[in-house]
Amino acid sequence: MMSTMMAAVVERHGGVEQVTVKPWPIPQPGPGQVRVRVRAAALNRADLGLLRGLSGPGLRPKRLPMVPGVDFAGEVDALGDEPHATAWRTGDRVVAYPGVFCGRCRFCQAGEESMCVSYQIIGEEMDGGFAEYVVVSTENLERVPDDVSFEIAAAAPVAFTTAWRMLITCARLTPGDTVLIVGIGSGVSTAAIALARRVGARVLGTTRLEAKAAVARALGVEAVRVGYDTPFDEWAIESTNGEGVDVVVDSVGAATWRASIRSLRSGGALAICGATSGDDPSFSIREIYQRHRRVLGAPLGNRRDFRRAMGLVFAGEVEPVIDRRYPLAQIRDALARLEAHEQVGKVVVSP
Ligand SMILES: [Zn+2]
Repeated sequence: MMSTMMAAVVERHGGVEQVTVKPWPIPQPGPGQVRVRVRAAALNRADLGLLRGLSGPGLRPKRLPMVPGVDFAGEVDALGDEPHATAWRTGDRVVAYPGVFCGRCRFCQAGEESMCVSYQIIGEEMDGGFAEYVVVSTENLERVPDDVSFEIAAAAPVAFTTAWRMLITCARLTPGDTVLIVGIGSGVSTAAIALARRVGARVLGTTRLEAKAAVARALGVEAVRVGYDTPFDEWAIESTNGEGVDVVVDSVGAATWRASIRSLRSGGALAICGATSGDDPSFSIREIYQRHRRVLGAPLGNRRDFRRAMGLVFAGEVEPVIDRRYPLAQIRDALARLEAHEQVGKVVVSP
């Protein structure tokens, strides 16, 4: 039997040249697991963090070699259990919740799997989906309806679970609220636009390039501020009749934090899920507490956030933006596009 597959492997930290598509052992599913034949996978900034060896406060150490790939979808290819002991069958179309959790700690017991004391991410701390096959726990699986493409299913998990966590679970967005999405271009920013629009919120956005602004407007962003030469908070205040926005979504980090906080109304919430431009911003503590403002951290979301977000995607109520597709063999080009911030939405690779 064939025992190797093609996989994108990171063996040393560094640039995209450190990712090599090469033969790699086909993983074998154990009890409670299945093997998935990957049909599509999507890139995330976490893939670049793994590649670069990003370390520091709030980051878990990573081991190499590693097959990255947090987002993927495909067909069940082999069962780790006897067929009578599992609801899954070979050929089932599936997508996976990217978090691995213990199921026993107080956070898991409360349904907050992404707070698990031993939380790990598929594709960061164990081999992921940039390969022909990946092994996952059956607890992570959701069925993909026949009328939803593997590309759409693979593009959604991280972006939509995180956007759901920020806007729905944490910020409790309601119709008529105004959301400012900072740094439109990333997968999570386009997912946040779609969810906020679906809720009935008014959406404002900032982005670096006019080309991205055009996409943002097409997605329903009412007003887009292009460029970061000057802080955007005055513009955000003017755009809300002097009041400030209800929620800011910011994954940019140090470069935009101060303006993001100043864009909020009194009592407004800054929802954060990343720090692409840096982790150590300068901001005023008084500007937060004197105005009753809140900061809401949302690294991915729990199992329920994932299920509900994917349900909306599967129902066609919201749709991931696919930026560009590459064969897995060209994953260096795909990662370079992400690293250069050239994309709007998700970059997808197919084995
Ligand atoms: Zn746990």
